[in-house]
Amino acid sequence: MDTAKQGERLRQLLAELDATLTSLRGATATEVEAADAGTSLSENDRSIAMVEAVEAQRLQTLEALARIEDGTYGICVDCGQPVPEGRLEARPEAARCVDCQQKADRASA
Ligand SMILES: [Zn+2]
Repeated sequence: MDTAKQGERLRQLLAELDATLTSLRGATATEVEAADAGTSLSENDRSIAMVEAVEAQRLQTLEALARIEDGTYGICVDCGQPVPEGRLEARPEAARCVDCQQKADRASA
């Protein structure tokens, strides 16, 4: 695993997430005004859910960058086994191996 390269990807991902958040927040603010006028409340709820999802991914990205600093990047935070490179290719911010992620998802569901 080339952590320098993964770090680059993570920083790029972070910049994209920041840009997405900025535009989503802009859209949400507009829709809040629309909701005040009595329209489009569910549309606004959806935007808020999207902002929350992007914020969660942004946090995971920041944590992954911190793990690169620590030298623990690419190691599952739950079981301590290496996260497969293919998974890190697809999701550079992944903190867990597939098994542990599924367990974590079930626990939070
Ligand atoms: Zn694991």
